[in-house]
Amino acid sequence: MNVWYAKAVVLAASVVMVAIRAPHGGRSRKVAIARNCKGPLEIFLLTLAWIGFFVPLIWVISPAFWFADYELHIALLIAGAVLLAAGLWLFYRAHADLGTNWSVTLHIREQHRLVTHGVYRRMRHPMYTSLFIYGVGQALALPNWIAGPSYLVAFGILFAFRVAAEERMMLDQFGDEYAAYCSRTRRLVPGVW
Ligand code: SAH
Repeated sequence: MNVWYAKAVVLAASVVMVAIRAPHGGRSRKVAIARNCKGPLEIFLLTLAWIGFFVPLIWVISPAFWFADYELHIALLIAGAVLLAAGLWLFYRAHADLGTNWSVTLHIREQHRLVTHGVYRRMRHPMYTSLFIYGVGQALALPNWIAGPSYLVAFGILFAFRVAAEERMMLDQFGDEYAAYCSRTRRLVPGVW
């Protein structure tokens, strides 16, 4: 199957992801940071996630990873595209529900509110769930052993090192309200984990 179908899917998904995030990035810059928990580890993890995001785009526009290419299968492309779309929908909903409380890193904003409605009602990290779904979708749709899983691996490392620190920060900030929220929600998958 023609690899340009996979390139079109990967490129379209990346553009939609940037389009969803861009207005929130602009808006959140206008809300002052009340507390900054971004240490050197966060800077490393964010850099890694950016690299993981750009490697598939390098694959789209250049032959850099030709040696790790494999044959594109229609079933994998379709499954990948469905997961990419599902991930992007949840990514959009999580941004909409978090509003100005969103940050790309570990920040507490002025007037920060604990969001427990919408997609946050039954899971504490729907945005991270969305990025895992997106990462799996990309790994399936992109027929290259390096560029395909690059975002999934980079984001998996970011998640593993960030999630406990983020929950500690939220517990510090919101105390019993966050503890109660934790007791009735799961991290990534409602009712499971
Ligand atoms: N972990 C969440 C949010 C990712 S954005 C998710 O996956 O959906 C990261 C920032 O969101 C953190 O710095 C924190 O300030 C903020 N945040 C995380 N959970 C929140 C919540 N339930 N309500 C309000 N802000 C939250």
